[in-house]
Amino acid sequence: MAIASNDYTRLGQAARKFLDRQHGHLINGEWLRASGDLAVIDPSSAQAIATIGAGNATDIDAAVHAAHAAFQHPSWSALSAADRERLMLRLADLIEQNASLLADLECVDNGMPRGFAGINVGGAAGVLRYMAGWASKIVGDTVDVKMPFPGSQFFAYTTREAVGVVAAIVPWNVPLMMAIWKLAPALAAGCTVVLKPAEDASLTTLALADLIIQAGFPPGVVNIVTGRGREAGEALVTHPLVSKISFTGSTATGKHISHLATDSLKKVTLELGGKSPTIIFDDANLEQAILGAANAIFTNSGQICVAGARLYVQRSVFEQVAAGVARHADSLVLGAGLDPSSQLGPLINARQQERVEGYVQRARESGASLLTQRHSPQTDGYFVAPAVLAGVDQSDALVQEEIFGPVLAVLPFDDLDHAAALANDNAYGLAACIWSSNLSRVHQLVPRLKCGKVSVNTEGFPHPALPEGGTKQSGYGRDLGRESLDGYLDSKTVLVRVS
Ligand code: NAP
Repeated sequence: MAIASNDYTRLGQAARKFLDRQHGHLINGEWLRASGDLAVIDPSSAQAIATIGAGNATDIDAAVHAAHAAFQHPSWSALSAADRERLMLRLADLIEQNASLLADLECVDNGMPRGFAGINVGGAAGVLRYMAGWASKIVGDTVDVKMPFPGSQFFAYTTREAVGVVAAIVPWNVPLMMAIWKLAPALAAGCTVVLKPAEDASLTTLALADLIIQAGFPPGVVNIVTGRGREAGEALVTHPLVSKISFTGSTATGKHISHLATDSLKKVTLELGGKSPTIIFDDANLEQAILGAANAIFTNSGQICVAGARLYVQRSVFEQVAAGVARHADSLVLGAGLDPSSQLGPLINARQQERVEGYVQRARESGASLLTQRHSPQTDGYFVAPAVLAGVDQSDALVQEEIFGPVLAVLPFDDLDHAAALANDNAYGLAACIWSSNLSRVHQLVPRLKCGKVSVNTEGFPHPALPEGGTKQSGYGRDLGRESLDGYLDSKTVLVRVS
């Protein structure tokens, strides 16, 4: 099967101009020239389409100092909550006005289908709007403190204060959305930020930088430095003027960063990997459940942290569901993101393509049966055919490890206890989906699942008001929702003797 790479005549004028630009770093409200370059590769063709700056420790130092100065400067520190909200709303409007440019860039940089890119751009604006509203609703408590000192009266309260400079580090899988998940609560809280996007997909974050300048944020409030994790990322998380690290990425990198932060006792939020279970009971609406299970794993070619990569099906309907999901997988159109018929784009890079194919090959060599019919196409792009595998063991790597590709392991279960045991038998604890028409069954299972989010009779769509994050090896802290603000705020207790 041959697959054409992206046809750039489908790109808007703004995206074409953006790709031709010399990209630097946004530091203190200005574009600074990068000292080195990194090639931007279109994953549908493996061809270079642009260059971005390779940030180093010097760039990071300048960005952190700019953020530190901006945190104290009255243009930001004395700004009212209503004005912070207004800036964020203006940025949301600008994102929507530039939605076509942003979706085009996401598509050629990350590889995702253009339609999915558009949804993400709209979602990013929605998150900013939701979080903007919280800027004016950050409050402390008054506390009744009767002390055993005769004749004395006390008054006590708590305040919430922005933590300071935030180091935000994000992955390549949904780049603009991940950047906004960090920026929005940090700005609502009154922090300043140095953001490092992933070297494999930085373009939409750079386009966002233009909009941040246009929105009128004071210089230094948001700084964006592109570059490699080992160089720019590590310099950022170890910088002494950074108070908080907000990281989304792999568990291995998250642990490394957490070790690096220990000496300076920086606050850390880690949104890490997952291997989320979908559990389908025999009383579920099977047509909806099959579609839901397929969407849970194949959206964005499986490159979603909450991807439903393990499918557990009650034994009496196992064959029917497994065959249904495999049929759906075979019907998906693989193609370059700019092709309007494409439903499944390429993976992000050659390393990831090889890794994902390796899992499927090793599982087949150990006796797993491949229920899908297709082979990955022989093209330069990093395309991988969706795969559904049965006949696997719960202890297999295919079931236990995060693959981050369009690969689904299907296993049978007998009853609720068995389903709970299988779902929890994994190092990760990010999300889960339950499909059943029996409410009592659902509510017995929900509290038994060790994870940060459970979706019932639906895939786990993110919503700005609903916290996202994990337990176990999936990390700690939350993005989105009111809870996400907690990561960017310190609490101060004030005790006053009034008589
Ligand atoms: P990754 O390799 O851990 O990279 C994530 C980010 O960390 C990138 O910007 C990377 O930079 C940077 N980085 C790498 N090494 C670093 C270091 N030593 N110091 C500081 N920064 C460093 O993860 P990925 O492969 O990009 O993303 C996929 C992973 O993200 C998956 O495990 C997925 O489950 C997880 N994820 C989790 C969530 C969630 O909400 N829980 C959401 C989305 C994705 P470079 O890429 O430039 O090297």
